[in-house]
Amino acid sequence: MNLSIKIFISLVLSVIVGLIAGEPALPFINWWIAPIGTIFINLIKMMIVPVVFFSLVVGMTSLGDTRKLGRIGVKTVLLYLCTTAIAIVIGFAVAGIVHPGVGLQMPADVVTKEVKPAPGIMQVLVGMVPANPVDVMAKAQILPLIVFALFVGVGILKVGGERAEILVKFFDAGAEVCYKIIGMIMNFAPYGVFALLLPVVAKNGPSVLLPLLSVIGCVAVGCVIHALCVYSTLARVWGGHSPKQFFSGMSEAMLIAFTTCSSAGTLPVNMKNCQEKLGVSREVSSFVLPLGATINMDGTALYQGVCALFIANVFGIDLTAGQMAMIVLTGTLASIGTAGVPGAGLIMLALVLQSVGLPMEGLALVAGIDRVLDMFRTCLNITGDAAVAIVMDQEEKKHDAAAA
Ligand code: ASP
Repeated sequence: MNLSIKIFISLVLSVIVGLIAGEPALPFINWWIAPIGTIFINLIKMMIVPVVFFSLVVGMTSLGDTRKLGRIGVKTVLLYLCTTAIAIVIGFAVAGIVHPGVGLQMPADVVTKEVKPAPGIMQVLVGMVPANPVDVMAKAQILPLIVFALFVGVGILKVGGERAEILVKFFDAGAEVCYKIIGMIMNFAPYGVFALLLPVVAKNGPSVLLPLLSVIGCVAVGCVIHALCVYSTLARVWGGHSPKQFFSGMSEAMLIAFTTCSSAGTLPVNMKNCQEKLGVSREVSSFVLPLGATINMDGTALYQGVCALFIANVFGIDLTAGQMAMIVLTGTLASIGTAGVPGAGLIMLALVLQSVGLPMEGLALVAGIDRVLDMFRTCLNITGDAAVAIVMDQEEKKHDAAAA
């Protein structure tokens, strides 16, 4: 049986078993089953730093020269920012029609929940430059790691010749070993996914989700609209793939993102899917996808749009057009600084709310259902990276053909 079907079956099973077992079974589930999910997550996390570092350096050195690197880099970042801004607008549109939160009373106790303050834009910029690459790797800080890998790649390109050749081979072999290990870990995915989802379903059950169902619905529908409109168009018009080919090629990675809520964690699988199922070249995928897993968060941006409107509704505030524009701008920038780990988007939502003066207390409401929202947004986040990767791959092929 195909791996993504196995993963899907384990996802459905975990929902059924979780609903039947419910809260009384939680101690047993947390003791015996949840650790299996933690092992799976740890195995994936184990590969994040090596795969990002090796594959980014390989990606850059295989670009051949720094001009090519600049060309792909600028186009990729622009495309990422555009799709992210569109995602927030779609979030606004869906929430504008559904009006989530209208009529919902803010419970007195949620206002006390504390939220960590979000970093400012300049802090995000400063944080991108690593003072100590070893420290950055030890802490798995992806953005500064990418910057370091960029420097290593550019350094190797600039050295050139025989000495550079040795390093290129070393990084290439290292990346190959990473992909092999990831393949081995993926065989464990159906068990890991079941163990990860079961405690969430058993703990929350349907009752917690009901009052906030409209927010979940808006984020889910918004994600589907964005994927079908924006990614299908990118895939068909610029990427040379039918939407069906694109989404079925991405199914494994999408399911892993949905269950792990981590773009960074899904990166290895996303790379595998893009290269093996969508035919994206190693050089483009090794550069575009790690960058996307870190700076491209369409789902997170869409969620910020929906949640901002939801919180405004709950507190009876009318957002002006200027405030909405501000949310699009800060949301797009905030998504760059959002780490590809579970729950990171909630912290960035604080930054967005702050920028337009919406009450921070609203965050507590969203926090209750954040895990469910995270599933949808992470799934969209990684699909967006792949959509841009296939476009960039086609662009490079066209460029190479024209140059030949
Ligand atoms: N969990 C998301 C991701 O990894 C980030 C977020 O929380 O929005 O892509």
